[in-house]
Formats: sequence, C-alpha cells, structure tokens
Amino acid sequence: MINVNYVRAFQDNYIYIITGPFNNYAIVVDPGESSSLIDYLTQKQLQLWGIFITHHHHDHTDGIQKLKQRWPEVKIMAGTKEKVKIPYQNVFLNENDLIETPLQIGPLSVLHVPGHTLGHIVYYWHAEAEEQKTAGHLFSGDLLFGASCGNIFEGTPEQMFTSLQKIRNLPPNTKIWCAHEYTLEGLVFASKVEPNNLQIANRLIETKKKYSEQEPTIPLILEIERETNPYLRWDSPSLQKKFNVKENDLECFLRLNELE
Ligand SMILES: [Zn+2]
Repeated sequence: MINVNYVRAFQDNYIYIITGPFNNYAIVVDPGESSSLIDYLTQKQLQLWGIFITHHHHDHTDGIQKLKQRWPEVKIMAGTKEKVKIPYQNVFLNENDLIETPLQIGPLSVLHVPGHTLGHIVYYWHAEAEEQKTAGHLFSGDLLFGASCGNIFEGTPEQMFTSLQKIRNLPPNTKIWCAHEYTLEGLVFASKVEPNNLQIANRLIETKKKYSEQEPTIPLILEIERETNPYLRWDSPSLQKKFNVKENDLECFLRLNELE
C-alpha cells in the first residue's frame, strides 16, 4: 500500500509526497519549489530517498537543488530522452524500467510518454497480484489533467495520441495524480465539445463546487476521465460523428487538437 500526500506550489501545481506504511522514507514528485516541501518533510520526520521528475520544465524541477543540499544522498530520477538536462539527475529511466525503493511498497514502473516534452515519463504503482482490487496510482506530470491533457510542446500530436493510449489502457480504477489543477477549465472546454454529454455536465457542477470550497479535484479516476475527458474519447461515437471521422481514432484525436 502506498500513501500519497501533496503540497501546492505556484498558482496551480501539485507536488506529491509518496510514503509507505512501515518506515519514514519518502519520495517526492516534480518539486518545482522546495520550501513548503522541506517544511512538510521535516515536520513529518521523513527522510527523502528519491525525487521523481516527469519532465524538464522549471515548475517541476526548480526545487531539486535545495532538496539535494538537505538530503545529499537523494536519488534524482528522470527519463533518458529529455533534450534539457535535469539538475543533479543520477538515475536515468527508460520505458518499462522498474524502480525498487526502500519504502517497502513494491516496485514502480516507468512509461515513456512523449508529446508535452520528448523525454516525458510517468510513474505507475500497482498493487501486488493478490490484491488486484486495490487501485493503482499514476503520477502523470503534464501528460494528462482533469478533462484535458498537456500542451504538445516538443512532440507531435501522433506521439501524444500514442502516449495517452498507454494511460487509457491502465485499469479503470487507477488514481491519477497530475501536476496541475486544471480540471475546471478542462471541463468548460469539454462541455463545449460535447454539449450533450451528461457526465461532463454533472462533473462540471461537482467541480465548480469543489473549487468554491477550495477542495482539490485530484486524484483523478481513469474511468471518469474516459467518460469526460475529450482527449481520451477518440473512439466515442459522439466525437467521431462531430468530426465526421467514423472509426478513425487517430483522426478524431487530431481534429480535437485543431479546435484549440
Ligand atoms: Zn510541463
């Protein structure tokens, strides 16, 4: 079992803290800044073992230096294919690599998901075989957000489509911890794309309520994203009809991307 907590940073970033049930080791994901994170880790008496970086953008990496000063032995992990160097990176990850940790939570696996950047990776934890009903956890960086996905800055829309397909194929109960709180604007867009989708309309109402109460919308649940996130709905009859692209999932995704 893993525990996931977070601190917020900047306007809408989430920085995640992963811990296990049996010891005080911790992993942080995409530390764009460090002060509130160091406060959190210190207060909880956690020892930082690893930093998971999904991609090279500053709002995901600027906290590394101070964390490294405070915990000099920390493992700083990122993909091998980023065009920009990650500060102090000392572990280089590829598709399907397994990460063993001292957290006693079992391994995490790595998926390479180019599109937002060329070397973007995501980190996936799933339960042991005997507890299949336990939901998996995905740390998705800027690949996927609530009802939207990351901007395609370095890759092609075709690469992004393939990357999102990998995520869509995970078990439906997977919890997705994305790096930004963009769910409301995603749903506003989604409701314009599919005005007759009742699930989108209902999720928009729920999300407005959460925002008014300053509640987070994470973790996302994959099953819900598949019903309400246009960027995972390339095979839905309503979208394919809208774009007049029968049984052509890629074309549907490309046409959706042209809308913005
Ligand atoms: Zn980014």
